[in-house]
Amino acid sequence: MNKEIFLCSICNINSGTCLEDCKFCSQSVRYKADIDRYKQKDIKRIQEEAITARDNGALGFCLVTADKGLKPKTLEFVCAVAKAVGEVAPELRLIACNGTASVEQLLILKEAGIKAYNHNLETSESFYQEICTTHPWSERYETCQNVNTAGLTLITGGIFGLGETQADRVSMLESLASLNPTSVPINFYHHNEALELEPNSIEIEDAFNLIALTRKLIPNADRIMVAGGRELMFGERQSEIFEHGANSIVIGNYLTTNGRAMNKDLDMLQSLKLEVAKKV
Ligand code: SF4
Repeated sequence: MNKEIFLCSICNINSGTCLEDCKFCSQSVRYKADIDRYKQKDIKRIQEEAITARDNGALGFCLVTADKGLKPKTLEFVCAVAKAVGEVAPELRLIACNGTASVEQLLILKEAGIKAYNHNLETSESFYQEICTTHPWSERYETCQNVNTAGLTLITGGIFGLGETQADRVSMLESLASLNPTSVPINFYHHNEALELEPNSIEIEDAFNLIALTRKLIPNADRIMVAGGRELMFGERQSEIFEHGANSIVIGNYLTTNGRAMNKDLDMLQSLKLEVAKKV
């Protein structure tokens, strides 16, 4: 079992304003989910959240925007936030997660201090059209390739529990492996009643097996991260994710759902005699 666990915190710097129709996403304006919606989070507040994350052991701090891709204003805002966070918490490794992006846009982010880019494939190429009709899976794959070309660290993963088959899951994991990511965030669909998708019906043992399968099919990834849906999927047994190959988690809140208090995760790691990673 991995002895060092990498902690990452995510910050929704723009929320709930996306025009796309991804069926699992409460940030799409189409489904009218009851979530906070705002164009730009206050930079001072983002700095405070970054300091809290760092003080609770996070190495990664991910700046997330809700949109299909990087529009000029979004790019400008992410760069401004990256610089502002760098001033107050230079120890944090900054990650951007801003949808589809060109090599040129990624290089601008890199210049502003972003070290890694997260763009998930979400699911298999063939199942993707069942969960999104407004943009193709190929654009997602291409963005991941652009991240590698731009020389940023690639973070890419997906979501389980959208109604996909086991073959879809294997296909997604093989596609992820072909991109040679450093970190693979896997999410377990957290149902919102405003969404038409059926709730996630994955059994807990199958979910543990999916973590192990991710590790097996992407052996070169430094980190397999259990991200959104951890608390809901694994409940009292979430400490067992590490036995199945996970070595990274998100601490604090997710994009539109609450995680548990950061100190609970730190207590869990301590009770398992797992160390919080101090560097990547
Ligand atoms: S593109 Fe991203 S933010 Fe927009 S609906 Fe899809 S998953 Fe949500």
